[in-house]
This record gives sequence, structure tokens and C-alpha cells, in this order.
Amino acid sequence: MTLINGLKQLNIEYDEQKLKQIEDYYNLLIEKNKVMNLTRITDREDFYVKHVLDSLLLSQIINLSDQKIIDIGTGAGFPGIPIKIFFPDVEITLLDSLNKRISFLDEVIEKTGLKKIYTIHGRAEDYGKNPEFRESFDISVSRAVADLSVLSELCIPFVKKDCFFVAYKSSEIDKELIKAKNAINILSGSDPYINKIKVPCSDIVRNMVIIKKKIYTPKLYPRNPGIPSKKPL
Ligand code: SAM
Repeated sequence: MTLINGLKQLNIEYDEQKLKQIEDYYNLLIEKNKVMNLTRITDREDFYVKHVLDSLLLSQIINLSDQKIIDIGTGAGFPGIPIKIFFPDVEITLLDSLNKRISFLDEVIEKTGLKKIYTIHGRAEDYGKNPEFRESFDISVSRAVADLSVLSELCIPFVKKDCFFVAYKSSEIDKELIKAKNAINILSGSDPYINKIKVPCSDIVRNMVIIKKKIYTPKLYPRNPGIPSKKPL
């Protein structure tokens, strides 16, 4: 009931097929988590709240209809997989530097029968320079990957001009925002707009940080793998 309650609170449509896809995803996650490190959240209700409903918060701030999205550092598929399940007409790319996690996601995609969803094993720093991916997405999203200054360099290059980078952040964000100001500016992002949203069926409050890309990102960025985190802009 927690999942359905939460979906109702978020005004998100669901049906038997979508709920079955979530169950298949959960079962596979729990099974594979025994042999590889995918998540610390294994309780079913916690999975619904802290992974599924939390991931779906993006739909509360942007109309997802027909959007082309990239999830940077997707890990076990958050927020990308729940978004794809409940908003099937989005096109989504899941990128992660750990191949084991990408193999797991390929299994999830096969098991759930999701379409228009792609996985990439690689680093954001490399793919952000690749002309096939650079400045070609409507939205880049990321949850629990890095500080906002580092994340901006990893995520903003993927976004088309006038489109959005959205970071899922915790309630403590003020210092991070100040530290990231310079990076966001260099990478052609707008001043961040913060949308505070409560995760349904919990006391958790998320800060969704929304940055619009004003002009093209300078060719110099992203820098080589590892440099954004070693020497944040
Ligand atoms: N987004 C997921 C979530 O919220 O549960 C996973 C978060 S996990 C803590 C961070 C993930 O980011 C890891 O799977 C890691 O391999 C990936 N990652 C970190 N730096 C990366 C980079 N530069 N390029 C691609 N993936 C990266």
C-alpha cells in the first residue's frame, strides 16, 4: 500500500504492468545484492519510499512527456529505472562507470521488458566529450554521486542549450551551493533554482536543484576523468 499511497500523493498514474515491473525490479535487486554491492536499502517498504518514490520526484518539477533524459552515475538504476517505469514515453540513458552495475541494469531491462532505455558503461567525463552524447539531452539527472561543483562538470555538458540539469540533494545544501557557484557559472548554467519536496510516506525532504543551461558549455569541459573531483572548479 505504501507505494500506491505515495503514487497517489504524487499524482502519478499506475497500472498492473507498472506495479509488476517494480516488483520484478525489487526481486532482482535483492537477489543480485547478495553477490554484488548494489544498495544498502533492502527492506521492501524502504525500497518503495527511499528509492522508487524519491526517484519519481523529478516528475513534480518538470513535465517528463517525451523527454530525452540521461542519468549520470545511476548505480542500481536510481532515479532512471523508476522514472522509465512510470513515464514510459521518456527515452532514458543510464550511465555508470562500474560495469557490474550496468550488467545488472541490462538484466532488469530484459526482465521488465522496458523499451527506449539504454545503458552505457563509462565515465561521465569521457561521454560528456563524445559528440553523440554532448549537448543532446533535454534533462540530465543525478542522485548521490558527488558534490554539486563536481556534478555540474559531469552533468551540464550533456544538456542541450535552454534545457535542464537536476540534482537530487539532501536538506543540507546551502554550503554546497556557495561552493558550486563558480563551476556552474563556468559551465554556462543559470543560478540554481531549489525546489524542496517531501518524499511521500516519510519525513524526508529533498532539495531538487534545477539548473538551466544558458549557452553552450566551453569545449574545455568536462576535464579528463578524475580531474573534476580532484580539482573542483
Ligand atoms: N544514483 C544511484 C543512487 O542514487 O542510488 C547510485 C549512487 S552511487 C553512491 C554513485 C554511482 O556513481 C556509482 O555507481 C559510481 O560507479 C558512479 N560514478 C561515480 N563517478 C562517476 C563518473 N565519473 N562517471 C560515471 N559514473 C560515476
